[in-house]
Amino acid sequence: MRPRPPCPKCHATSMLARIMPLTKDTVAESFECPECDYSWTVSAPDPIRKASGWIEALKPPN
Ligand SMILES: [Zn+2]
Repeated sequence: MRPRPPCPKCHATSMLARIMPLTKDTVAESFECPECDYSWTVSAPDPIRKASGWIEALKPPN
């Protein structure tokens, strides 16, 4: 599981609210703070597409 960043305002452990595709291999992750209701979004590499890229790379060439 991906580490959850602390809230920038009150430093409580945030909750990952949603993940939206941003570009081909980037996602926007929205975090919400359960303590002060602050929410923010960060962009991150898409872990699923990265993983499938790995699987493709491990296939033997035909
Ligand atoms: Zn907070």
